[in-house]
Amino acid sequence: MSECRLTLLDTGYCVHPEHVVLRNRRLKPMRFPAMFAVIEHPERGPILFDTGYAQPYLDAASSTWTGRIYNAVTPVTSSPPEFAAAKCRAMGVDPADVSLVIASHFHADHVAGLCDFPRAEIMFLESAWKRVAGLKGLRALRQGFLPSLIPSDFQERACPIEGEAWSALGSEFGPFQRGVDLLGDGSLVAVALPGHAAGQLGLFVRRRDQPDAFLVADACWTARSFKEGIMPSRITRLLFDDMDAYRFSLGLIGAFHKLHPDVEVIPSHCGETHRRLVLGEALP
Ligand SMILES: [Zn+2]
Repeated sequence: MSECRLTLLDTGYCVHPEHVVLRNRRLKPMRFPAMFAVIEHPERGPILFDTGYAQPYLDAASSTWTGRIYNAVTPVTSSPPEFAAAKCRAMGVDPADVSLVIASHFHADHVAGLCDFPRAEIMFLESAWKRVAGLKGLRALRQGFLPSLIPSDFQERACPIEGEAWSALGSEFGPFQRGVDLLGDGSLVAVALPGHAAGQLGLFVRRRDQPDAFLVADACWTARSFKEGIMPSRITRLLFDDMDAYRFSLGLIGAFHKLHPDVEVIPSHCGETHRRLVLGEALP
């Protein structure tokens, strides 16, 4: 079975009041890092999980009315040295060598860098793309989708994960029962985590010399939310695709963590996870 090396990085951050993310918490603004992951696979080479912020986002935020609204709701701090392509180069990975980008969902903070990896196939759950494909203006914005971030050659590079790809998973993934072995070697297994966005996927990564990692993207925003089952505030719920599905996905992640506490669960915007795994700080 192939095993990978996982490097977690960030592309800057946005700011929200803390209570938006954890109900009953403070109104004080908090930084939420926009993380992505570089997965080095022994045969496929470098693979990305999401791409974070990048120039197309900054362009949309300054030149389109939908981008300005998006950036007013989640004010972003990001610059070229922080974009995924630059972070890849800094670790010795040429963006042109990235053969696959796995997009958890199509919100701007996850797909803005797709154009910087021109040779990569783009994998995603078919239901995620179906929800946003063809949307423009306010209808797109309501789905957290900025169409200008999607590369012009998207259709040629797209590898949607469709219904027939799903199969039963072993007990090591419990309580998740069905998933998709993306490369057919057990190294990367996708599961559905809908709710925050339609068709959001989570990714299990089999790591070399380390416990497996479970990248959950925005199925929860902090480690506390899945450990303690804390739902986000009501305001945030207006932006979510399906609150019942979100609650269900969060419950599954919490149950998975209880059954498999050694697996590193990684939410894309968790400050504590960022400090520990990206900045290398020792936390109490
Ligand atoms: Zn996000």
